[in-house]
Amino acid sequence: KDLAVLDERLTGCRACPRLVDWREETARVRRRAYAGWEYWARPVPGFGPPDAALALVGLAPAAHGGNRTGRMFTGDRSGDVLFEALHAVGLASQPTSTERGDGLELYGVRVTAPVHCAPPDNKPTPQERLTCRPWLVRELELLRPTLRAIVVLGAFGWQALLPVLGGAGYRLPRPLPRFGHGAHVELAAPAEGEPPLHLYGCYHVSQQNTFTGRLTPAMLREVLAAAAERAGL
Ligand code: SF4
Repeated sequence: KDLAVLDERLTGCRACPRLVDWREETARVRRRAYAGWEYWARPVPGFGPPDAALALVGLAPAAHGGNRTGRMFTGDRSGDVLFEALHAVGLASQPTSTERGDGLELYGVRVTAPVHCAPPDNKPTPQERLTCRPWLVRELELLRPTLRAIVVLGAFGWQALLPVLGGAGYRLPRPLPRFGHGAHVELAAPAEGEPPLHLYGCYHVSQQNTFTGRLTPAMLREVLAAAAERAGL
């Protein structure tokens, strides 16, 4: 219930003027392929159950993906690759994620991001990352009783997530852990006696990575399966 309230409040946020302009401008100047679409054009909340044991974290929604559909990693090629892999390892009810209301369910997994509005060139500024940080801090605090592992998609997401985890009370090693595909870090929980959180790095599911074979479907499935097992899924 608390997470649903948070998601609802998030969708009304207008704290970053540049991103508010961009998400709305993108909706006005639609791609021809989406001419008939009513774009979401608001902050995109996390998607998945409130008692998730595993979180998937990118950086921010895509202009014609999540910003169009209102659901993270939905309606673009990156989402196609991600949900096909989630379905293959038993974490999603179907291999496609086309739009809200398409029947997709995630099993024990929540997909979210440290920046909730689509940024120009997929690059939020440091100030925008800072402004958006409290939303994900709160989301992780609400997920904390069940959350055991996070898969981070891409180095930018990794860099943005570490301060969020610090803000949510997890103890970060120094020097800070570096991103790499297959990187695995165990973070001590905020309170004594709580289980640790396992962080996994994975190359981003961008077309640049998947078209070139830098990230293959097998590599993605392998990281997801390892994190899911660690999370007890
Ligand atoms: Fe609000 Fe985050 Fe969107 Fe900025 S990026 S307007 S803080 S939801």
